[in-house]
Amino acid sequence: MKKSNLIVFLLFVFQIVFSQGISDKDKLARALYDKALKNLNDFKCSESLYYSQKLLNYSLQKNKPELAAVAYNIIGLNFEEFGDLKKSAQYYDSGLKYADIAKNDTLRNYIFNNMGNLYYFKFKDAIKSLYFYKKCYEISKRVDAPIDVAFSEINLADVYLELKQYDEAYKFLTLVQQKIKPTDYEIGMSFYSLMGNYYEMNQDFKKAEYYYLKCINDFKYLNLAIHKAHQSDIYLLVSRFYEKKNDPVKSLQFLKKHDSLQDILFNQERKFEFRKAGGDLEVLENKLKVQQIETDKKIQEQKIQEARRFTTIVLIFLAILIVFLVFIFKGYVNYKELNSKLFENNEQLKLAQEKTEEATKLKSQFLSNVSHELRTPLYGVIGMAQILESEHKEIKDSPYFNALKFSSNYLLTLINDVLNVYKIEDNDIEFNYELIDIRKEINHINESMNVIAKSNNNELIVTISEDFPQYIKTDLTRFSQILINLVSNALKFTHHGKVEIKLDLIEKDSSQLIQLQVIDNGIGIPKEFLDKIFEKFVQVDVHLQEQYKGTGLGLSIVKRLVDLFKGTISLTSEINKGSNFTIVLPFLKIDTNLEVHQLNTYHSDHLKPLKILVAEDNKINQMVTKKLLEKNNHYCRIVENGLEAVNSATSEYFDLILMDINMPELNGIDATTKLRALGITIPIIALTASDKENILKDIKENNNGLTDVLVKPFEYQDLQLIISKYIN
Ligand code: ADP
Repeated sequence: MKKSNLIVFLLFVFQIVFSQGISDKDKLARALYDKALKNLNDFKCSESLYYSQKLLNYSLQKNKPELAAVAYNIIGLNFEEFGDLKKSAQYYDSGLKYADIAKNDTLRNYIFNNMGNLYYFKFKDAIKSLYFYKKCYEISKRVDAPIDVAFSEINLADVYLELKQYDEAYKFLTLVQQKIKPTDYEIGMSFYSLMGNYYEMNQDFKKAEYYYLKCINDFKYLNLAIHKAHQSDIYLLVSRFYEKKNDPVKSLQFLKKHDSLQDILFNQERKFEFRKAGGDLEVLENKLKVQQIETDKKIQEQKIQEARRFTTIVLIFLAILIVFLVFIFKGYVNYKELNSKLFENNEQLKLAQEKTEEATKLKSQFLSNVSHELRTPLYGVIGMAQILESEHKEIKDSPYFNALKFSSNYLLTLINDVLNVYKIEDNDIEFNYELIDIRKEINHINESMNVIAKSNNNELIVTISEDFPQYIKTDLTRFSQILINLVSNALKFTHHGKVEIKLDLIEKDSSQLIQLQVIDNGIGIPKEFLDKIFEKFVQVDVHLQEQYKGTGLGLSIVKRLVDLFKGTISLTSEINKGSNFTIVLPFLKIDTNLEVHQLNTYHSDHLKPLKILVAEDNKINQMVTKKLLEKNNHYCRIVENGLEAVNSATSEYFDLILMDINMPELNGIDATTKLRALGITIPIIALTASDKENILKDIKENNNGLTDVLVKPFEYQDLQLIISKYIN
């Protein structure tokens, strides 16, 4: 917008825009506003001020900040019009404060625009005006008012041209160009004249002339009063341009046009009633000053109120924050407590674990010790009974003697069972797979079980299917343990009946499996016991079975051993009809030729008389072992400890040494090591009441020279078997 047409134009826009601040229903406000505006339009400033002041009073009474902003803006325009620019700026500023309170962007936009004009055109302060125009630009873009945006761009281009920042000016002109419509006369006029001006500044007179002439030709028919001033300015601008271009004829031509328009404008020029206005203005000014103070007070109050509101909000927020923090802190404390509790629990758990491990170790140690301590005297008892029996045949019929034999055997089974079950539980068991002639081994078991079978008048039958291989690969000790447990149970709980050991090779999922069955037609097991019979210490509690004594460990050992074999066990049983224990074990393939050859080198049936050195410190055991060996035609030399064993074995030849482990002076292991160091190569069999597995482990790991282990008390067959392995 160019300089002199500013007010006229503003008034034109004002009518539309500022009426936005006034509701149509508010008739009084609208009347006051219309009058203030019309009088300003007619340059009757004192009247205009009179109505705008009334509007201001009204707005303050009704507490309508947008009306106050409108009123102050008209007051500012009035003061600008009659040249009191400082006051004009002050009143615009007050208007702006109310527009802020009303939060009305349209009002703010136009007051900023007025201030920009004031500084640009009146104060000639382009830099400051730039600040206000930029504000306008910002707001009009934000509220999406395209016309306002275009005006702001025109203003900015104008100021940048003034500041000789041509690139910036061109940038805004280009933006305006995109928005011009044929009906936007004001924008069009401003745009073309500014373009002319831009090219003139850049010494491109041809283009400058083009735009100037386009501006004049396009808009020469505009006859509206509001355009006249702008047209007049443009004529002057073009006249000066031609002057610069050294075209005095054209320069004069446009100067004349300018002058004639100026005449028209002058004729309708404002008739300030300066005298009247001067008197009124003084009163008005005083009033306005008072109002200004009130306004400031009100603004202050409003600010205080806002500050209060803000403080309240901040306080509420702080309170919430504190509550929140308290919760977080509490949570943190809880978390810490939990964490430390967890840590404590973990520590306790660790401690408990360590204790458990220690206890387990102690338990194993204890079991091993106890079994050793119990088995040693038991060896004496059982051995003595055997000697008595063989030397005094008549004693066989004595019930006391039989009770003694039964009790000692029972005690031995009990100790072995307890030891076994705990060893399996501790996973302290290693399988030793070897090739066995299954028919032969089952026959052995059959023979030894026959004695028990007879006592209950049972018949013990072995059925091995024809296709069952002669040799299988298994851990003989564990396999026998399973079979013996099952068969002895079957014989125990069957009277005048039949017990069958059945062995088959079955096929399942295209793999071969060993099926071992122990079937009896004895008293059977009640249904409710079938699924718990394999648990530790479980025995059927019925009167029928009261007479049977047992530990309740046998089947649990069987089950665990079957598990270790990676096999399965199942049971069917019916009261008074009998039971069927079926075990299925994996069948391991063997290289028959090679392994059977090895196997056939062992033959235990007929042993030639041997010269055996026995190192044993327990007197009773010495007697028992000696009797046992001599009874089987072996020569036996007894020595008291390891040291004596070393002396005897180095000074005399023996076929074999049976070496007790726990002995005074020199224990069995150290004595063996010494003997091996002295070049003695004969088999040395450890004779121990301790746990066999531990000694075997020791032999494997420490290579202590022992050949094998025989656990006391032993039957002669056990000894015979072990000797036959090492002596041809
Ligand atoms: P024990 O025989 O030492 O008591 P087991 O674990 O071997 O312990 O057996 C547990 C119980 O299962 C026995 O006490 C008995 O009641 C029952 N039982 C085991 N086998 C048979 C069987 N063949 N016939 C009847 N009852 C049996």
